[in-house]
Amino acid sequence: MGKEEMIKRLRGMVDENVVEAMAAVPRELFVPDDHKREAYDDTPLPIGRGQTISAPHMVAIMCHILDLRLGMMVLEVGAGCGYHAAVMARLVGESGHVYAIERIAELAFRARENLARAKATNVTVIHGDGSLGLPEHAPFDRISVAASAPKIPSPLKDQLKPGGKLVIPVGSLDQQLMLVTRDDGFEVKRYMGVIFVPLIGEHGFSEG
Ligand code: SAM
Repeated sequence: MGKEEMIKRLRGMVDENVVEAMAAVPRELFVPDDHKREAYDDTPLPIGRGQTISAPHMVAIMCHILDLRLGMMVLEVGAGCGYHAAVMARLVGESGHVYAIERIAELAFRARENLARAKATNVTVIHGDGSLGLPEHAPFDRISVAASAPKIPSPLKDQLKPGGKLVIPVGSLDQQLMLVTRDDGFEVKRYMGVIFVPLIGEHGFSEG
């Protein structure tokens, strides 16, 4: 599938600003050389170390659900190759910022290179355990988690601003995409069944 076909499929599925951001970010810069020809196929692709770049429709749906606006401060847990962070960075614009955490150092390094090539300047990639959030830059307007957790990590909920939103897949075999909104308490809404790699860390699954 080419880029035009990908964009056509996303129209009507998600907000137009998300479609525009997906059109603006060159996905081919984020996939390994041996998968460049499939860059716009609507499927996850391997990025090394047993991890994947998420399918385009999943990145678009998560951005749509989060309702990202200009100027927002965003945390991404599970940066992988940096593609999803680059799309969110377009949506929050130069007045906003995306902090993207990745637990595998080699992927964090490559994500930084990919984001630099894509000229995404309002993203900072950090190597670490994102299940703990990023207290030094909290609170966040939005948090996007790209790996499935056993349950919603409490540090992530606590690092949301009032009115803030967190999108996260939860479960192991049966995974559900959840949206948490912080108001007086936490409202939790279930969206759809999904398939993600596991969130590994202190508030995630244990390794191995
Ligand atoms: N955001 C990516 C994209 O642009 O398509 C997809 C990321 S991939 C589906 C999920 C990533 O989460 C993997 O690279 C994995 O190493 C990472 N991960 C898993 N547990 C993590 C944790 N506790 N903290 C940070 N990253 C984690």
